[in-house]
Amino acid sequence: MSLLNRRAITCAVLGALVSTSAAAATAKEQKRDGAPSIVVLVSVDTLRADVVSFDGYARPTTPFMDHLAADGVVFTNAYSTSSWTPPAMGSLLTGLYPTSHGVTTGNIQHLDRIVQPPLPNALTTLAEIFQKAGYTTIGVPANRHLMASLGFGQGFDFYFGQASFRPAPGVNREVKRQLEKAFGPLWRIRWKQGKVFLWIHYFDPHDPYRPNRSWLARYAPAYRTDPAAFPANMVMRDLHERFPHPDAAAAARIRPLYEGEVAFWDRQFGILARELGLDAHNVLLAFTADHGEEIAEHGNLGHSQSLHEELVRIPLLVHWPAGLPRGKRITAPVSLVDVYPTLVRLAGLKVPAAVQGRSLAADMRGQQVDPERPVYMELLPPKPHLLAMRTGSWKLIRSLDPDHAVSLYDLSSDPGEHNDVAATHGALVRSLQRRLADWYKSLSPAPKQAAVPLTDKKLEKQLRSLGYIN
Ligand SMILES: [Zn+2]
Repeated sequence: MSLLNRRAITCAVLGALVSTSAAAATAKEQKRDGAPSIVVLVSVDTLRADVVSFDGYARPTTPFMDHLAADGVVFTNAYSTSSWTPPAMGSLLTGLYPTSHGVTTGNIQHLDRIVQPPLPNALTTLAEIFQKAGYTTIGVPANRHLMASLGFGQGFDFYFGQASFRPAPGVNREVKRQLEKAFGPLWRIRWKQGKVFLWIHYFDPHDPYRPNRSWLARYAPAYRTDPAAFPANMVMRDLHERFPHPDAAAAARIRPLYEGEVAFWDRQFGILARELGLDAHNVLLAFTADHGEEIAEHGNLGHSQSLHEELVRIPLLVHWPAGLPRGKRITAPVSLVDVYPTLVRLAGLKVPAAVQGRSLAADMRGQQVDPERPVYMELLPPKPHLLAMRTGSWKLIRSLDPDHAVSLYDLSSDPGEHNDVAATHGALVRSLQRRLADWYKSLSPAPKQAAVPLTDKKLEKQLRSLGYIN
């Protein structure tokens, strides 16, 4: 634990070429039961909700996703289950909170060994559900915390298992390479004739923030005359050195770089989506993030240091005009654990009883969503040990570290969480604390599985430069 920088740590050949008659049968079947034959899950690393323009951000960071949002369902209060990659992505792929799936760390335990608990084989992943239902399953995650050897490849027929922290154009190429592996030289025609579950995880908004020059020219004109004032291409460890006490002035230098990365990603994903028709009316596409990013809102940078809004509120958009209402906004709080049961239900499949999330399918189709339904968040040692819950407009954050700090925020009047009102709301704090403690006690324990030591020197060097290793 002493080796960890607590603040800077971030975060087969199936080949069954479907015959034309089989494809026609699939199309008929789809009409009959209304289930989508193409299901696409897109997640973006380190993408906070308040920076995407379809969520209300004034600058046009995400014009392509805005166009999907206009025809889809947007959840404006979606929450991650944690504030860094391994626990959050475990939740997305299992529908379980981190304590119950067990991927709560991803850290250095010895000088020469990187140990991350693998996603337990005993759990049924989202990809396994689709695989069992006859879908060809393809995963391309651009984050080495999500390697196949760490259990994240479970249920995928094709998996880019050595996915690294590569920019979007490389991810797009890999998606097409995996589709070609799965469907052969005529993949562009054939892949949509069958049933496919495709998961793509992009990495662009994560540090180091690379300069998007056209974005900077427009929104940070000072970049042209004084580029050195903008901490471009710096890994989080170096950003912490340059800004030991990040404030509004630091944020003004960092934020345009971060926004430029988001705009770059949106443009690149738009290119892939249009090329492959991922924005077609009969494709069920869900888009979300693993966690957000702090840019000095609470005196820090990066992620995994707290459970404040900038770190846990994430975008969530479901686009499937053939099966869902268009242009709908749902404000009730929902969680990353809800994505799994939602996609499974929309595909007409059965959600395993162990799943802790709730299908949002009926909510999207018009049923009243309960705005008081609580959603929960966890951050576990060796990070700060924090639990949080949101119900209605209240957010409670409780530390299980020796300081036992408790804070309460009214997000309706204080969306940035700068005004802790715990001291003046004693009864509410006690009641929410009890509910939070009861929820935490009720979580099923994760199945036991031995940790996987990673002895890849290249990976270690990469993780070190990104600030994962102190
Ligand atoms: Zn991440």
